[in-house]
Amino acid sequence: MTAPLAAAPAAEAIQKPPRGAGEKPSLVGLSRAGIGAELAAIGVEPKQIRMRTAQIWNWIYARGVTDFGDMLNVSKDMRATLADAFTLARPEIVAEQVSEDGTRKWLMRFPPRGAGRPVEIETVYIPEIGRGTLCVSSQVGCTLTCSFCHTGTQKLVRNLTAEEIVGQILVARDRLGDFPDKSTPVGAAVPSEGRLVSNIVMMGMGEPLYNFDNVKEALLIASDGEGLSLSKRRITLSTSGVVPMIPRAGEEIGSMLAISLHAVRDDLRDILVPLNKKYPIAELLDACRAYPGLSNARRITFEYVMLKDINDSAADARELVRLLRGIPAKINLIPFNPWPGVNYQCSDWETIEAFSDIVNRAGYASPIRTPRGRDILAACGQLKSESERMRARERLALEAMMADSED
Ligand code: SAH
Ligand code: SF4
Repeated sequence: MTAPLAAAPAAEAIQKPPRGAGEKPSLVGLSRAGIGAELAAIGVEPKQIRMRTAQIWNWIYARGVTDFGDMLNVSKDMRATLADAFTLARPEIVAEQVSEDGTRKWLMRFPPRGAGRPVEIETVYIPEIGRGTLCVSSQVGCTLTCSFCHTGTQKLVRNLTAEEIVGQILVARDRLGDFPDKSTPVGAAVPSEGRLVSNIVMMGMGEPLYNFDNVKEALLIASDGEGLSLSKRRITLSTSGVVPMIPRAGEEIGSMLAISLHAVRDDLRDILVPLNKKYPIAELLDACRAYPGLSNARRITFEYVMLKDINDSAADARELVRLLRGIPAKINLIPFNPWPGVNYQCSDWETIEAFSDIVNRAGYASPIRTPRGRDILAACGQLKSESERMRARERLALEAMMADSED
């Protein structure tokens, strides 16, 4: 049984975590209406709110300013008032690592907001010739426990706020010099033309559909045409299969969808992606068939991690093709990226190619994802931060809440 739509992610209960004492509210991560409400609260005249909101929006998202003093078309007095009341501060960058292949990974730290201690997450930038993809995290840790995923060994500490999700994009653009009048660090690997951050994938730490409201708010900001202006076709939300939330993702966010499938039989998927016990393959694929706006030009990506002798046989490939019949799909084969202590191995290269051939012959594009940034543990599924876990009691309460709201 799947849950009614409105009931799904419980994480809302911690969606607006308390700010620390003396912390100014940030205007980053708010909708236009949210900024308007903040301006009204500090006494900005109602007839000015729309115009001021548009100006501030442009400065934050199109120009990347972090200081109200730089908002030159805003009066001096108003700039000072804004600076007294609000902040635009970026997240703290604890570490920046650059792989030998040019991939960059940032470890960012955010305030505790109910989690006990400051929390840390990772964001990865993957430069290619024609695009620059930012892999963004949605949660600190993950409640799910996919057996091949490093993040899955780290319990959920807390959801990220919309501010923190958008903050990852702003930090990446800052560090890459991807705002007007900013310069790119010498020697940085970036696409040869176009925007440096041209694509967003919600494939970092966490399950984005368990933090729906914040992810939605952040992605609507990322795709807003007067700000960060990323086309929704260049934003991909990856889910391990939170079936009840898939229709809402389609209707309310409208980004591209990726499904972490990884197995073609329920008995195996129950082990690899334990959420399958709740939402088995048939239900998941029904939700995919109903995803709005699908066409040959707008396909769902099915991610399939290649695990040696586990899910990589020719029979598996044929069954995959059969299962996906009728769904505009592409299949992304991900060579398994190992991490310390894991028992799986990556399939042999010939096996991956043979699998890919079967899928290709059936008419599906099936690119094999080249592992990037393995030397800095930045590849798919390798992210994990040392953030303190919630106290066991709090965590159990949160997990019980999540389970209840899905039933
Ligand atoms: N929680 C979401 C998004 C984050 S994971 C989800 O599961 O879809 C992004 C992708 O990396 C998923 O397809 C995930 O299954 C895959 N992945 C996780 N661990 C991996 C590993 N060790 N090697 C290769 N891919 C991995
Ligand atoms: Fe969570 Fe995705 Fe990792 Fe599964 S694969 S544990 S859902 S981050």
